[in-house]
Formats: sequence, structure tokens, C-alpha cells
Amino acid sequence: MTYNAAMRLVPCSARFALPAALALGSFASLPAKAQSPLPTASAEDRAQAREIFKQLIEINTTDTSKGSVTAGGAAMQKRFLDAGFPPEDVHLLGPDARKQNLVVRFRASGPTTQKPVLFLCHMDVVEALPSDWHTDPFQFVEKDGYYYGRGTQDMKESDAALVATFLRLHKEGYKPRRDLILALTADEEGGKFNGAQWLVQQHRELVDAAWVINPDSGGVELDHGRAVVAAVEATEKVYSDFQITATNPGGHSSRPRPDNAIYELTAALSKLSAYTFPFEMNEVTRTYFTNLAAQEKGSSAADMRAILATPPDLDAAARLSAEPSFNSNFRTTCVATRLMAGHANNALAQTAQANVNCRIFPGHSPEEIRQQLIALFADPKLTVKYVSDSYVVSDSAPDRKAMVPPAPIKEVFEPLTRITQSIWPGVPVTPVMENGASDSIYFALAGIPCYGYSAIALERDDDRAHGQDERLPVDSYWKSLDFYYSFLKAAGGQ
Ligand SMILES: [Zn+2]
Repeated sequence: MTYNAAMRLVPCSARFALPAALALGSFASLPAKAQSPLPTASAEDRAQAREIFKQLIEINTTDTSKGSVTAGGAAMQKRFLDAGFPPEDVHLLGPDARKQNLVVRFRASGPTTQKPVLFLCHMDVVEALPSDWHTDPFQFVEKDGYYYGRGTQDMKESDAALVATFLRLHKEGYKPRRDLILALTADEEGGKFNGAQWLVQQHRELVDAAWVINPDSGGVELDHGRAVVAAVEATEKVYSDFQITATNPGGHSSRPRPDNAIYELTAALSKLSAYTFPFEMNEVTRTYFTNLAAQEKGSSAADMRAILATPPDLDAAARLSAEPSFNSNFRTTCVATRLMAGHANNALAQTAQANVNCRIFPGHSPEEIRQQLIALFADPKLTVKYVSDSYVVSDSAPDRKAMVPPAPIKEVFEPLTRITQSIWPGVPVTPVMENGASDSIYFALAGIPCYGYSAIALERDDDRAHGQDERLPVDSYWKSLDFYYSFLKAAGGQ
């Protein structure tokens, strides 16, 4: 992921402090209840988990000539096979020799009608320049209570914690009642071989699941060591780029013609700038704003309650939309992000082109939004084309609509909330809609509910994902081990 999820998911976090008893929609009875202590990892379990983390950090999995996701997957594959996982349950596969994905299945101990649970983790990391760092980014360094290295926040900490937990449960003879699957994938951060997409489209049988946990987003936000919120990404918007083009025969700029590519394009962009897509809510944003309204005070609390009414108060929505993160949570947004026009100072532009980037509210397809842009511009001389993730430009956009999220599933949120609150007593747990995008979208497009949650606790001002001196508090790593151990058992059936 490209940000501290909790920071973005909980807008204006500086403006309000979420008190301990934030009610979680339909799980309102859970917060603030005394929780029984969780089993914690032994010194031996921790040592193994640390060794796996170290090994993964020190394998370069960047999308560069030095990097290989396959090397990371092969190292983990060896650990699973050495531990006695049957070879038919440990697959290393992919469309490219250096971009293989590892899929491991912890098989149910008996016949089951329950679909598996999938843990989806990307194993690639963003490039790190050693000259920018105070330690070698591809060395695992423990210093002052932190682990340093590229991927310690995004997201080898969760890759390693889940590998370690799968191995620990296996060693203990745990017998799940349903299959648990771990996928360690390529090219989430960039590159041409996105493993999550490839697996769900080409090898659905390996990754098909009742629901998915993707630790690449969500998490526990700390403020001076105090856990203030645990955000669970329960749905996300769909990313789409559109190329808007105006063309013209051009000519000498001393003889302007009545039609002009630059003016036609900018007229269309002015319409876009003045346009607001309709206000929408879904089960996730409704729960999120219900929770937030309980914390806010004064007029914004009243406005949040007003948008939750039936029908929603659109004036209140308009006032709240002054906050960009709220606005983005309320509707599809489209904004011009690049411009290119003309070829000489003394020539009429033959081409004027803009990129318009849209973040589409779940339930709408990119093609639907493309048609809306065409109608909004109302200029047949303009073309509105779709630009794919791999920069292929086409006359039409995908028709596929991202799944409208169901109400957060109890089977996920009950144990997630209970275990999280055992580790961070009283922390409010809330589902959120991410305005950005992660690999979860490929599963959402396939109709599989996906929840972004890592159980990794980070200070709100210590987001170093993709940055220099990326680090993770050692204590956060130990806590995530405890979370995954109990959560996997809850997901798999005790
Ligand atoms: Zn990530």
C-alpha cells in the first residue's frame, strides 16, 4: 500500500479523539468488554517468526533487475515443505519466472461444506536506495526497539507473521474445520504481473474463498503508544483513468480558426470541475459514519446524523463534502491529473489531451462512468477513452461493476474485534471504505468479500511505507503474531 491506511481511513484524525467505547454498528455489544487474555507466542515461536521476517527482508523482491519475488516464495515454499505440508498443497506459480506466487493450503482435517478463508499478502516491495537510508534497506537490522529494512511496514511483517503462524499451528497439530489459504503474491506495488489478479482470474480453484483478509491495509493507529482506532478496510473504490482528446487540423497561429483543440478540451474540463457526482452510501460507509457521528460534536455530528437519515439530507452532505476525504467517501470522483497540448509556440494545437483519474464508488462500472463523462462534456468532437493499468488505451471501458459491499460479515468482525480488543483493550474497531485501491479489488470484482486488516500497530506519524528507514516496532510484530494465532484459529474453527 502507499500510505498509512489508518491515517487515510480515519479522516481528520487530528480533529477528534475516538474514545474507547466506539460502538461498532451491529457489533455494539463488543467494545469495552473485559477480554480474556490471549495465548501469546513462546520465545521459541518468536525466534522462528523473527528468523522468517529477517529472511524475507533480506531477499530483494523489488520489481528491478536485482529483485525476485520468486526467490522469496521459494524460500517460504521450502519452509512449508520441510515442515511437512504436502507438496500438492504448496504451489509456486505465475506467468513470469521472477514473479511466481506462493499459494499454501492448510487443509481442513475432515470433510467440510465451508469455503476456505484466504490470507492475501503481496511479497514485492518498492525499490529502496541505500544512499537514502541509514541502514542497508535489504539487511534486517534491530535497533532501539525497531526492526529496520525495506518491507518492515509494507508488508513483509504480515507475510512473515502469517508464514510463522501457519507453521506454528501445523506444528501444534491444529486441525482446522475449513481450509485456510495463504497467498504471497507479486507486483502489487507495480510491474506487469499482478499476482492477486492473475491467481483469481487464472487459478480461482487455488484461491477461491468465502472471504479474504488482506493485511495490506487497515490496522491499529497509535497516538503516543495508545491505540486510538483499529480500521478494517471493508470495501474500496475502483481506480480508472480516462484519456480525453480534442483534435484539430491546426495551422498557423497568426490565423486562428473558430475551432481550437485546447479551448474545446479546457471547456470540457471546466464542466468536469463544476460537476459533482451524486451522493451515495453503502453498508460500510453507513456503519463508518454512524460510528463517527457518535464521536463528533456540534454541527458536524448533526450533519453526519442527517446524511444517515432516509432520505439523506443533501445539504448536510454538501457541507461535509468540504472535507476532501469525506467527499471522496460519499461519491465517485473524477479529476484532471495531466494535460498535454500543442507542438509549437506559433502553431495551432492539433491535439490537446488530458488524463482524468476517477475513483468509482462500488456498484458502478468504468464504462458507466465513461458514458457519464461523454454526456457531461456533450461535445462529439472529443473522444473519451479508457486507459488500462498497463496503459493500453481503448475505445470502451470494462463493464464489470465492483461488488456493492454487504454489511460487514459477523464471522469476520466478531473474532477480529474480540481479539483486537484483547490486545489493545477498548480500542474501537470500525469498517471503512478505502478511497484508494489495493489487491483486494481483484477479489471484490470476483464477488469475494475482502477485508483489509493487519493487526499491525503504528504511530500515526511514523508511516514509512515506501520511504526511507522503513521500520516496525518489535512489539508490534509480537502483537501481530498473537493476533494471527488466535484469529486463524477462530477463522478455521477451534
Ligand atoms: Zn503494500
